[in-house]
This record gives sequence, C-alpha cells and structure tokens, in this order.
Amino acid sequence: MPELPEVESLTHFLRERAVGRTVLGVDVVGFQALKTFDPPVTSLGGLTITGVTRHGKFLDLDCDGLHLVIHLARAGWLRWRDDLSGAKPVRPGKGPLAVRVRLAPDDEGLAPGFELTEAGTQKRLAVYVTKNPDDVPGVAALGPDPLHESFTVAALKRIVGGNRTQIKGLLRDQKVIAGIGNAYSDEVLHAAKMSPFKIAATLTDAQIADLHEAIVTTLADAVERAHGLAAKDLKAEKKSGLRVHNRAGQPCDVCGDTIREVSFADSSLQYCPTCQTGGKPLADRRMSKLLK
Ligand SMILES: [Zn+2]
Repeated sequence: MPELPEVESLTHFLRERAVGRTVLGVDVVGFQALKTFDPPVTSLGGLTITGVTRHGKFLDLDCDGLHLVIHLARAGWLRWRDDLSGAKPVRPGKGPLAVRVRLAPDDEGLAPGFELTEAGTQKRLAVYVTKNPDDVPGVAALGPDPLHESFTVAALKRIVGGNRTQIKGLLRDQKVIAGIGNAYSDEVLHAAKMSPFKIAATLTDAQIADLHEAIVTTLADAVERAHGLAAKDLKAEKKSGLRVHNRAGQPCDVCGDTIREVSFADSSLQYCPTCQTGGKPLADRRMSKLLK
C-alpha cells in the first residue's frame, strides 16, 4: 500500500511530468472507483493541469481549479505511460486497470498519460472530481501531516494525551495523523523502541519525544530514498528500506533477534521483541480468542 513517502514521491513525479499539460480525457474503466458524479469526469477534458499536491495518502491534481483527487488504497498503483496514442480503447473488465488519464500530445507527437491500476478482487481505489478537495470526506477528516512544521512534539503530546488506544492503531488512524499506514507504523515503532500495543495515554514526555523523532526521521528518510525515482521503481525501494515490516522470521538489523508477527486489526504487524517489548513476544490475541 502506498503511504506518505510513496505518495509524496508520486506527487513530485507527476508535478514534473504532468503540470502544464492539457487533459485530453479521463477514461473510467472500473466504475466503482469513481466516487463523484457532479461535476462529471468528462468536464476535466480540455483543462490544463496546474498543480499536483498531496493530502495524507491522497494525490490531488489541480486542473484549472477542478480537482482530480486519487486514493490508491491498499492495492492501487499509478503507472506513467510515455505515449498512450497507440493504446487500445479501454473496456470495463476484470483487469487491474481502473482509470486512464490521457494528456494532449507534446511537440514530438507523444501523448503521455497515466493509469491507475488495482490488483486483486477487493476494489478500494477511489477517484473524485471536485471543485474543493475538502469535499472529499477522507481529505476533510485528515489529521496533521507529520512532515509539516506544525507537527511538533507538543502537537504529538496533545494527540496522545488521554487517548486510550494502542499506539499502533493510533499511528495508522488517518484522522489522528495523516499518511502513515501499516508498514510505516511498524517502522516508526521499531525506531522508537516501543511496543505496538502500548496505550497512547501512558507515554511519558521522554517517550513522546522519542516517538516524534521516530515518526519524522522514518518518514523523511523514506521520502529522501524515494525522491526522484520513477513510479515503477517505488515499490521495490519501499520494500528494501523496511527494517521490520513484512520481515517476520528474519534477523533484526539492530540487535539480531528474530522479527516476530502478531495479528492486529484486519491484518498483522511485525516487531522486534528485543528492541521493542523487553524481549517478550506479544500474545496473538486473535489466535488465543480462536482457541478458547
Ligand atoms: Zn531488534
């Protein structure tokens, strides 16, 4: 799933390639992906892309004041195409292609564009056409961006104070902090040497400062690594930079202990017992519930 660093990189990538170009048309293949009907998606045709920004994990293309807002969800991706002039017309089907954005040809006659694809059968990729990105419920509800200067230690202290949820769930909650998902919450907690099951409200001031440092450096480092990469190379870069996420059974880079996995919410999390939980493996609550 693309999280803040990957979406930030895609934002840069699209800004460099798409800003200043005219939209020829937007073909919606997976109809469930289009979440808005007014203004219609056809109204983007003929408009010029004037800016590309990010809100949490949402991409926002400003087309002369009309916005195409994209959420790639768990299995979605963006694929840049240097020339779509010879591409076959798209037909609704069972393939991964959800949306194709065609741009006007340049001086060399190449008509570039990009495609939004989604693997698997669960279709969660979402696109919105709106005059105001804040009309998208997921954008309006976003918490602070952890790479914005307003995200200070004091801001994080206000967020965790009195919050009785487990820190892993809190980090992933887009309404609390924008842009962190399952992978980077594992990475942040490993960097902060903190148990994912710790209750947010119990953090000391020193732990809040450590957590803040871990959030900012983990995300900034990932943004740095992803910067300048082509969209197609981002997934491999993300994978190679992860220290605990999806690495159960492998040794921890920091201490050599074996990285473990437990179920959490609708998926699983990975952590290092020596670095994060005083050497004790966490109980898998879902498993113990099943065994009762
Ligand atoms: Zn470790």
